[in-house]
Amino acid sequence: MKHKIETLVIGGGAIGICCAHYLQEQGREVMVVEKGDICSGASHGNAGLIVPSYSMPLAAPGVISKCLGWLADPESPFYIKPSLRPTLFHWLWKFRGACTMQHVHRSIPVLRDMTTESLRLFTGLAAGENMDFGYEKRGLLELFRTPAGFEQGKNTFKLLQSYGIKADVLGNADLAQLIGGLKTYAVGAIFSHGDAFLIPDKFVKQMAEYAAGRGVRLATQVEVIGFKKAGRRVTRVHTTRGDISVKEVVLAGGAWSSQIARDLNIRLMIEPAKGYSITFRKPHHCPEIPCTLAEAYVVLTPMRDTVRFAGTLELAGFDQSINLQRVKAVLKTVPRYFPDLDPNTMEVEEIWQGLRPCTPDGLPSIGRPHSCDNVMVAAGHGVLGISLAPATGKLVSQLLTDETPFMDPRPLRIERFS
Ligand SMILES: Cc1cc2nc3c(=O)[nH]c(=O)nc-3n(C[C@H](O)[C@H](O)[C@H](O)COP(=O)(O)OP(=O)(O)OC[C@H]3O[C@@H](n4cnc5c(N)ncnc54)[C@H](O)[C@@H]3O)c2cc1C
Repeated sequence: MKHKIETLVIGGGAIGICCAHYLQEQGREVMVVEKGDICSGASHGNAGLIVPSYSMPLAAPGVISKCLGWLADPESPFYIKPSLRPTLFHWLWKFRGACTMQHVHRSIPVLRDMTTESLRLFTGLAAGENMDFGYEKRGLLELFRTPAGFEQGKNTFKLLQSYGIKADVLGNADLAQLIGGLKTYAVGAIFSHGDAFLIPDKFVKQMAEYAAGRGVRLATQVEVIGFKKAGRRVTRVHTTRGDISVKEVVLAGGAWSSQIARDLNIRLMIEPAKGYSITFRKPHHCPEIPCTLAEAYVVLTPMRDTVRFAGTLELAGFDQSINLQRVKAVLKTVPRYFPDLDPNTMEVEEIWQGLRPCTPDGLPSIGRPHSCDNVMVAAGHGVLGISLAPATGKLVSQLLTDETPFMDPRPLRIERFS
């Protein structure tokens, strides 16, 4: 390709497409390269939650002992595939180091501010002409089956409330009303008012279509395989369809970002963490608001005429096979919370797996690496990539156009693990 692309975005998931959209809005000429189809990675089949109430980072005190207890259980929500990969050891070591209250207190305001900005942007995007991606602001219901789980949930929400994230402990009558009278074995429930949800695949594809209509070029089935540098700048990007001359590059390759960055000698600490979702045609009796089945770490999201259950976190490298035992384990938990909601009697639409791009501290990595002047990384969004996508796109566009960013980007700098 002779023509020099002003901004080349690598990755056509929620993050890459949002970066492309906001950069185009700032007047940049943008091209997105995606090795598969738009939204074929983790952004496709996730639970679609936009959740300020999840501002507690994954790395927190008590998490390690809980995970160790789960390792031998083939039906547990967490699994590490035995491996001698040094990158995995290093990642786990950094994760262990981040499991402190100090880190929790540092991270909550960062995630709160990003998810809140995203909510504001989602509301505007959903109101746009021809935009219909199932965006609903109905809150999130967290259900607890055990008194111990409920106590722990209340402690987390007390902490989040001290940061201004609003939630209520519900009485039985309010709970029954919220779930439309569906029978439940929950012994306690917490309702987070500010949360929303959407259909993620529709969101990313509609945003991509919208951006394309405004001049963003989308190149699918094009894989980035390397880079040519001159001094501290990338000048050409090598792809499976030839070279592309570039002025600047945004690296939004999700779980693959550290592999892509290796050719630039940029070290990103991002591990793929596999999760599953199972989507059914929605049965007659089904909650109409998203619910977290707390002790099981399973999410239920109603998506128009379907309902999706999502869960598990497997550190198994880039293995994208579907382990049916874990899929069944996710589904088995549902009647333990809703005895009249039995997935065995429901019509399956899709069984899916996706690789979450996880950093050890649960915050995304956004910023320029020290070694490259014209590369911007936007990756590592872990369990929150949909919640953080518009805010990330906005932040990246502000940083690249020297506008004042809506937040302090320093907690997200990519060299923080060195
Ligand atoms: C089961 C599950 C449930 C989840 N639920 C939620 C939720 O409710 N709310 C929430 O906020 N988040 C949720 N997440 C997390 C969310 O899905 C991810 O954080 C988010 O999708 C990451 O977006 P991304 O654009 O960074 O990555 P991706 O969507 O994976 O996009 C990266 C893209 O880069 C492309 N790519 C990779 N390498 C190359 C290359 N060399 N050249 C060109 N293209 C390349 C890939 O094909 C891919 O399409 C969930 C995840 C899972 C697995």
